[in-house]
Amino acid sequence: MKRRFLTSAAAVALAAFIALPGAFAQNVERTRTSMPPAKYDVPYTGTLTIWISSPEAITQACRTPEGKRTSYSSCAAFTKDTCDINVLKNIVDGKPFTIVDAKGEFLGKENLAFALRHEIAHCNGWPQSHAEGQLLDTQTPMDMPKLPESTVWLPAYPPVVCLTPDRKVEDCGKRKPNNRDKK
Ligand SMILES: [Zn+2]
Repeated sequence: MKRRFLTSAAAVALAAFIALPGAFAQNVERTRTSMPPAKYDVPYTGTLTIWISSPEAITQACRTPEGKRTSYSSCAAFTKDTCDINVLKNIVDGKPFTIVDAKGEFLGKENLAFALRHEIAHCNGWPQSHAEGQLLDTQTPMDMPKLPESTVWLPAYPPVVCLTPDRKVEDCGKRKPNNRDKK
């Protein structure tokens, strides 16, 4: 079995108020995470799967082998040729998300481009120590990373998703014996 390496974004909170769309202004704290150095902030060339994750899926995926949480937002697990990124659905949707630290519960926000560039850098071998990283506000505008053509975006479990051999999502109903027989 291949060894899988797990890395994640560690956010640092800074207090601030941000007005969100809607009737109420919610207290969203400014958070920071590391922007990778240029040598790792390059296109990933392996097989990339991005799992759009619920908070529960992040809890399951983003933890050390000992079970300690490493992130509330995203993490990457990779082998030599593959990388699986779990990213919180709220980040994909541009919404705030809940973080709990020693002071209690608060809302954080992170732009998707930053989350993916951080995690793809880990796919490219950036050490978990975030060596030579530059701490930036997690909402710092930046361009999306260039993703490999073969990138697949999938909902993290649950639900179960059925894929064709070339990694396209297909209706799981097509797997039923009755449907397989229909040509
Ligand atoms: Zn990280």
